[in-house]
Amino acid sequence: MTKDYALNYIVSDMARKNHLENMIYIHDLDNYAVGSHNCLTIPFDKLLAEGFNTRQCDIRPANSVNTAFQLVAVIFQLQSLCQFGGVSASHIDWTMVPYVRKSFTKHMRDGMLYCEGCSEYKANRFIKWLEHESEDKVLHFDNEEFKSLHPEAWSYAMKMTERETYQAVEAMYHNLNTLQSRSGNQLPFTSVNYGTCTLPEGRMVTKALLEVSIKGLGKLHKTSIFPCGIFQCMKGVNREPGDPNYDLYKLALRSTAQRLYPNYANVDWTGNAGYDRNNPATYFSTMGCRTANGMDINGLGQLKDGRGNICPVTIIMPTLAMIAEELTDNFTEEYNLEHPDNNVEIFMKLLDTKIHEAKDMLLERFEWICSQSPDSAKFMYENGLMAGYVPEEGIRSALKHGTLVIGQLGLAETLQILIGCDHTETRGMELAKRIEALFNKRCGEFKQQYKLNFGVYYTPAENLCYTAMKEFKQQYGEIKNVSDKEYFTNSMHVPVWRSMSPFTKIDIESQLTGYSNAGCITYVELESGIKNNLTALEALVNYAMDKDIPYFAINVPNDTCLSCGYCDEFNDRCPECGSEEIQQLRRVTGYLTGNYKTAFNKGKQAEVEDRVKHA
Ligand SMILES: [Zn+2]
Repeated sequence: MTKDYALNYIVSDMARKNHLENMIYIHDLDNYAVGSHNCLTIPFDKLLAEGFNTRQCDIRPANSVNTAFQLVAVIFQLQSLCQFGGVSASHIDWTMVPYVRKSFTKHMRDGMLYCEGCSEYKANRFIKWLEHESEDKVLHFDNEEFKSLHPEAWSYAMKMTERETYQAVEAMYHNLNTLQSRSGNQLPFTSVNYGTCTLPEGRMVTKALLEVSIKGLGKLHKTSIFPCGIFQCMKGVNREPGDPNYDLYKLALRSTAQRLYPNYANVDWTGNAGYDRNNPATYFSTMGCRTANGMDINGLGQLKDGRGNICPVTIIMPTLAMIAEELTDNFTEEYNLEHPDNNVEIFMKLLDTKIHEAKDMLLERFEWICSQSPDSAKFMYENGLMAGYVPEEGIRSALKHGTLVIGQLGLAETLQILIGCDHTETRGMELAKRIEALFNKRCGEFKQQYKLNFGVYYTPAENLCYTAMKEFKQQYGEIKNVSDKEYFTNSMHVPVWRSMSPFTKIDIESQLTGYSNAGCITYVELESGIKNNLTALEALVNYAMDKDIPYFAINVPNDTCLSCGYCDEFNDRCPECGSEEIQQLRRVTGYLTGNYKTAFNKGKQAEVEDRVKHA
């Protein structure tokens, strides 16, 4: 209903026509009319330090790691009511450092009182003195004076802080897997990035996040679906033996092999150039699905916190390729194309026209969103969750830092239509690069011209891959290697049914990821046996990072018996207890989805079944 309303009364004729003719898809039309935006990386450093207001009450700043993690879950929840897409934390390990220290100080006082029998007076005075002496007026784990003068209290405080951190993380996982978002039937799409903090307090947080992920949730230790964990690989920090966080990278790999999470973000990605090494809020981080914030044309640089995607559209390229084919045989003036040469040239011209129209569709929606009252997302604006908001200037002052992204669907099928092969062949790759270069060039020009963050987006298309194909088939029927299945291939991915080694897949996709600056993901399918070969897994993730892949994920089959908790790949029947109640977890976009046979649409189910393992 709200979809039809937006289509009939809000968007322009051009936008409606493109949407209905399966050429440019307007995402989340349901939410168009209310004028909400897509997603946000939440500035947790600020919110936890300053507290925030909700409709019911003021929330004070966090005073312990336990409170801080509970507030993270609350903030994720409240923000996801202000928008229609995901929420993320860009560097949760760094964010938590002050709160781990606050907890540590409390436990240290208890340690002095109850392990060492100090008087309250003495303990308080000593702590005050240490805090006064320390540079940032807070106690650190490695305070030598405390360690040497009160060794028993120190050991006690370390143990208790570790326990509290672990329990706080566990509670956050539990909350994020049970909270409901606005629609009432879906959990908020939450992601947490971590892994680069080398301070002992931050390392403790990362370790807890990974250990809870490995352990799983509840009685049966089920793989948790939220938050999407993203480990940030960074040279000199966690990549090599001898790096301070190399042990945490290894722990991350163990978790991935068993639980699919974490995924891997590449802090050294060339596309994130210009970031500030001293500010982890500028390190490359991503939404679980893949949406990422690039360089801000309006002054915030590579800052991720307080920014997000405002709205996406996706160009359904196979439709354009079919039109180009028809025009080659039967040229008409309809699309204002001059000098048609051959089908590829016609396609490139048509694509260029459609990229411009996609830009206009995004501008339309951007203006619509900017015309809303700040009260429509009170929590977000009142508490400064979106960076740059100046009340006197209106909400545009904040929205202009977000991204407007032009997505794409079905590069592989497009190439098949145009030249009879996809980008797994040299000829296909040449044309693929030409296509992606055009997207990239135009988005760069639009960014300068409109002073808005236009970007190239390799769309997740979880539903669109199916609905767009259904419409395509109605119009063009079944074409070999194009529409002889239920789905279009995601963005510029190699088709899931192509057999190749995971290294080859990375080689191919890494030639195209550099054209995207608003988000992309590369994943490979592995056998569940990978958990017995973590060295191979490490080599693979390293290979992807070294090939300059910005965001990398591993798909490992994850079937859990709901009777006994046994977890492996076994499809319909548990080999341990014989139960047929099985949860089959698979990845759709970047996030995991519980039982794909009920949670996925027909196209995505077919895609999952066609996926070949990369070995
Ligand atoms: Zn079982």
